[in-house]
Amino acid sequence: MHEIHAREVLEKLKLMGAGRVLIQSPEGLRREAEVLGNFLEDNGIEVILHGEVNYGACDPADREAKSLGCDALIHLGHSYMKLHLEVPTIFVPAFADVEVVPALEKNLKEIKKLGKKIALVTTAQHIHQLEKAREFLENNGFEVLIGRGDSRVSWPGQVLGCNFSAARVNAEGVLFIGAGYFHPLGVAVATRKPTLAINPYSGDAIWMNDEAERLIRKRWAQIAKAMDARSFGVVTSTKKGQLRLAEAKRIVRLLREHGKEAKLLLMNHISYPQLEGFSFDAYVVVACPRVPIDDYENWRKPVLTPREVEMLLGLREEYEFDEILGVERSEDEPMGISIHGG
Ligand code: SF4
Repeated sequence: MHEIHAREVLEKLKLMGAGRVLIQSPEGLRREAEVLGNFLEDNGIEVILHGEVNYGACDPADREAKSLGCDALIHLGHSYMKLHLEVPTIFVPAFADVEVVPALEKNLKEIKKLGKKIALVTTAQHIHQLEKAREFLENNGFEVLIGRGDSRVSWPGQVLGCNFSAARVNAEGVLFIGAGYFHPLGVAVATRKPTLAINPYSGDAIWMNDEAERLIRKRWAQIAKAMDARSFGVVTSTKKGQLRLAEAKRIVRLLREHGKEAKLLLMNHISYPQLEGFSFDAYVVVACPRVPIDDYENWRKPVLTPREVEMLLGLREEYEFDEILGVERSEDEPMGISIHGG
């Protein structure tokens, strides 16, 4: 269950004098987008609902909003990411309506195995509960470190599937609060520290380090599959927070310097079926790291991250997760609804 503060959004739109808006939502918040749209229309604002799939703040529909003559974009479900936005954009994060302390209480014995000095991280959905979690843990004798993170995240302690900067603190182990595997798996690979994931919905605790080793073995297998490839398609994305053009060009140069053929490709939503007609022997995805790591089984050709290309070419020995890093963060973003850009 997620609560959207419709009246607060309306107030911000009124202050801006907005008459027409585009509402963008991830698949899990379609009903909330409709309800918000109805509420805004009842209050005299013209609303267009954006129907494309959205996975993150890395993909704001600000260009579409501009081309539709909208005065603002409302981006539901994610917190602000530092990007150049073409229309004023209201980020409305969706905080999960679930307590985290009961799950911590249940798993205290497991958490103690992390050591005394622990890093605490979570996703945007549970960030509003982080202080409660810290207090509980400190009351139980832990020293809790919450990393500031870089400009790609909005809040201290927040991790994304492509950014674990908030987990890089001087701790013995990392405690992740949230559902799903991808984030804590990334934390375990990126920090190489004991990582325990606590799911506040189910109350389960899972150690991620064996899973991380399995992931690394699978990725080395992908690298081995790409060893004989002569030609590489190096794909980046037009999504604003995934367009890593300089990095993609660097990978093209690197491959060519090592005697391979390489071409730069541009897509929006990156998926293998659209690439079927090309003759490349292998691909490198220089966009969202989830694409090659989560989706590689759907690719008929080997698909690597930029770091994995360096391993393939013998330039890097130890496995490293593909992160998209920002710059140092100067101040904390306010919790909840915030307006940026335009
Ligand atoms: S690039 Fe991928 S992991 Fe990062 S925010 Fe976007 S969808 Fe999430």
